[in-house]
Amino acid sequence: MSDIRLEQLTKTYAEAVAVEAVTLHIEEGEFYALLGPSGCGKSTTLRMVAGFVKPSAGRIVIGGEDVTALPPEKRDVGIVFQNYAIFPHMTVAENIAFGLKLRKRSRMEIDTAVKAAVAQVGLTGFEDRYQRNLSGGQQQRVALARVLVTRPRILLLDEPLSALDKALREEMKFWIKSLQQELGITTIYVTHDQDEALTMSDRIGVMRGGRVEQSGTPTQIYEDP
Ligand code: ADP
Ligand code: ADP
Repeated sequence: MSDIRLEQLTKTYAEAVAVEAVTLHIEEGEFYALLGPSGCGKSTTLRMVAGFVKPSAGRIVIGGEDVTALPPEKRDVGIVFQNYAIFPHMTVAENIAFGLKLRKRSRMEIDTAVKAAVAQVGLTGFEDRYQRNLSGGQQQRVALARVLVTRPRILLLDEPLSALDKALREEMKFWIKSLQQELGITTIYVTHDQDEALTMSDRIGVMRGGRVEQSGTPTQIYEDP
């Protein structure tokens, strides 16, 4: 677990500036939402933290370590996308074990870690199911477990609830928040949904046109829109 510093983080494409000089400090254990309309630069910011998009300028520092030049697998960061499709030909347990197998962990270590991750996301009893027999919410739980099983120091969530229907979204909102609190894992949560940001986060960064225009607690953001 670690804090995150973004220093003058910038991404410029030929057509436009996607992210412009974003400077933020996200504290260890904090749930931080990046909130803003489509196209304001939320995903690009998150993908730079994950290491999938190379910044044009600026730095990313995680737990005091400058990771700006590190590849994604060296950053110890877990990311879940909106449509993080789980592998349909693998069971829940196999999906969750996948990353650990890649990392060449022992069979026993994998079994123990998968069992813990399955319990963490409330899918005990569903280990042998395939995607076709899981609801959208359960699939997102698998995606989360697959990330958590590698014990990342940072959790990045990119609109993880937008593909779900409203009732499920409500349920998952509270569930994700309580899981995050239980784990105490530093989290950046990207959303265009103000209600999600206000109910889930410790602090919110409001993005517009590539910049973070405001950063504060839900109360501060709500009272000074
Ligand atoms: P958001 O996540 O807030 O919807 P994005 O970070 O996806 O916003 O995009 C920010 C801006 O950067 C948009 O104008 C988008 O079109 C542009 N953009 C994102 N990725 C690319 C890319 N690979 N090439 C060119 N422009 C991009
Ligand atoms: P998200 O739903 O996470 O915001 P998008 O649908 O905006 O993702 O983008 C999906 C992919 O397309 C990303 O890799 C992003 O960088 C790329 N992309 C987004 N906007 C553009 C663009 N204007 N030109 C080229 N690539 C883009």
